Amino acid sequence: MREKIVAGNWKMNCDLAEMEELLAGLKNKAETIPSDVSLMVAPSFTNLYPAFQSTKETPITVVAQNMHQSENGAFTGEVSPSMLKSVGVETVILGHSERRAIFNETDELLAEKVNTALAHGMKVIFCFGEELKDRKEDKHFDVVKSQLQNGLFHIEDSAWSNIVLAYEPVWAIGTGETASPEQAQEMHAEIRKMLASAFSQDIADKVSILYGGSVKPANAKEIFAKEDVDGGLIGGASLKADDFLAIANSY
Ligand code: PEP
Repeated sequence: MREKIVAGNWKMNCDLAEMEELLAGLKNKAETIPSDVSLMVAPSFTNLYPAFQSTKETPITVVAQNMHQSENGAFTGEVSPSMLKSVGVETVILGHSERRAIFNETDELLAEKVNTALAHGMKVIFCFGEELKDRKEDKHFDVVKSQLQNGLFHIEDSAWSNIVLAYEPVWAIGTGETASPEQAQEMHAEIRKMLASAFSQDIADKVSILYGGSVKPANAKEIFAKEDVDGGLIGGASLKADDFLAIANSY
């Protein structure tokens, strides 16, 4: 049985007071979420510690949106894995399309970040996905394969228990346009085939693959119903407690 995960990527939203309000809304009704669904939230760096403190006795897990690939040093403005761990954060999102596109994070850099996170015993939610032009040119499987091969497929078999995949077609992120449940299923099934051929069927069967891209209460149920979709990475809709809970309750 694969872990089902609904994770909220709060991006650069919410000051401290706004985040406390959002968390209070989630904590109020967190017990309504099916017990086999892991609920995660990814606040900004400045909100990680208060979020961790405030969710200690709850089923909510706090994760980071990014981290630097080095242990420490002269990297002004960056945050290291040990810093994250010191405030209770054990999981990090890497490879989000905004990090790739706006902050020029390459597959090679992401491979380094993955290595650092794993070396620190952290879990990684590894994001990838094609752009609209790739899909129009029917290159979406190739693009995803290359992102996975270059950024992630160098890891040891034993490291896969610390990896969650998040397929996020760039054309569906923050656009209101969602991949159809069939498109999501088709890609997720293809990713499992890539895993089976590069690693093993056992690993392919065990890794959770989340879908991300304009998931909302109205479409979550049919996306989550697909057999190779193990949950979602949610942007905009995770900023409203009721919508985010409704999505988590769509299982
Ligand atoms: C995201 O940024 O990971 C995302 C899926 O955003 P949205 O749900 O707003 O499309």
